[in-house]
Amino acid sequence: MSKYFLYARKSTDVDDKQILSIEAQLSELRALAKREGLEIATEFTEKRTAKVPGRPIFNDMMNRIQNGEAQGIICWKLDRLARNPVDDGLVSWLLQQKVMERIATPERSYYSADNVLTMSVEFGMANQYVRDLAVNTARGLRQKARNGHYPSVAPLGYLNDPRTKTIAVDRKKSKIVRAAFELYAQNGSRLEDVSRFLFENGIATKATKRWENSGLRPLKKDQAKLILTNSFYYGHFRYAGEIYEGKHTPIIAKELFDRVQKVLALRGRAQKPTKQPQALCGLLKCGECGCSITCEEKFKYQKNGNVHRYVYYRCTKKRGACSDAYIREETLDAQLSKLLSRFHLPRHWAEELERMATKDAADASQTTAASVQAMRAKIADLNGKIARITDLFVEQDIERGDYLERKRALMSDKKSVQERILLLEANAAVWLEPMRKWLKDASLLDEAAQSKDLPSKKLSLQKIFGSNLTLHAREARGVPANHWFSVAAATENQSKTDLVSCLVSIYNAARTYFSTNS
Ligand SMILES: [Zn+2]
Repeated sequence: MSKYFLYARKSTDVDDKQILSIEAQLSELRALAKREGLEIATEFTEKRTAKVPGRPIFNDMMNRIQNGEAQGIICWKLDRLARNPVDDGLVSWLLQQKVMERIATPERSYYSADNVLTMSVEFGMANQYVRDLAVNTARGLRQKARNGHYPSVAPLGYLNDPRTKTIAVDRKKSKIVRAAFELYAQNGSRLEDVSRFLFENGIATKATKRWENSGLRPLKKDQAKLILTNSFYYGHFRYAGEIYEGKHTPIIAKELFDRVQKVLALRGRAQKPTKQPQALCGLLKCGECGCSITCEEKFKYQKNGNVHRYVYYRCTKKRGACSDAYIREETLDAQLSKLLSRFHLPRHWAEELERMATKDAADASQTTAASVQAMRAKIADLNGKIARITDLFVEQDIERGDYLERKRALMSDKKSVQERILLLEANAAVWLEPMRKWLKDASLLDEAAQSKDLPSKKLSLQKIFGSNLTLHAREARGVPANHWFSVAAATENQSKTDLVSCLVSIYNAARTYFSTNS
């Protein structure tokens, strides 16, 4: 009597989702064997795709059939046996050569004497199905991306909505993500601090299947960085190397994203936890060689038991020899206080300047329309450029890498301009708030200068000089931004000119600065 091998297969592929589970296949096939009185020699189960040749259990079964251990196969459908021309060829061949007598499925049976065409058509369809599916899936996903829908798992802060097949904002987690961006943009935190912050707010690594006790730890530095560099959060997403404009709601502004990228670039190298004393470290650069100025703590022990602590600042000399000498913290502090007080804005000046700004803002709203129009023209221009490089790429005049790079840069610019239009429309005078804040800061510098609080002094100096403060021959110097410079110039010349021209010169410098940098 003929013996049969029972073969059940189900892969984890999407296209196998509709297929019965292996367990269900087994029970159906056993019932079929019982009904028809077929003797089962061995049962084979396999959890692999049949799209490509190379299934070990299937191959083993076919070898054993060729050795005469069984004369037939029971399976759910022909496509369980083969979905590629190599395997289907072997199955058909063994049947035609009468090595196998029969393949039994619940729907129908295939015999050696059958028309060859029937089976090859069925196999051919199984094979074509796989190929269509692959092409259709890729095409469908690309189309989805072009329509602005990210065709993948939603990033942290978002949810996949299975009903609409779109991505929705996760109200709770999106706030945490935004706060993480803000935290990092202040440039006081490391990636570890971002991970820690996320962890404290319930965002941790996931447990893996293999280790149930794994996961639930703070994210790794790289994972935190992936979040901070994901353009999805401001509205663009990357799919298969291309960048697309998403239809999902952004949770951060592009401007915040850009600030975070600047900090990331700045802190490219690993940061060691800072040690005390560090009050003024990182504020100055060496005027001779450009290296950072660091500090050093020294203790002097006297015979009578007294200990004196001195803090010195000096060049790190990382770029080789540099003759710049040490400066005592007290000396440096005094210099910095003097420097700060040069930029102090008298209170009554600040009040008058604020009045000028408020009136100016009201007038400016009328000119907003013109600016918006100019920016719209810029967007049209950028769109033209994007279309042109796409044409170049289609004509194969530029490499794919080059194309993607240039397209990304243009799309990034476009997003920035779009955001500025929105800001302008929402508030005609985008410069007004930063300028008010500046007037306040500048009018409080006299307090900062007298303060003994070195970190806050450092902060004030960084606002004025950015990273342009140098220590040269034991003297701190720097070139401030124009609006700060105008304050120093006006206070020095106030005896020579009248108050109104002092105020006007400060106002013009500040207005220009905040219009272009807000
Ligand atoms: Zn130096």
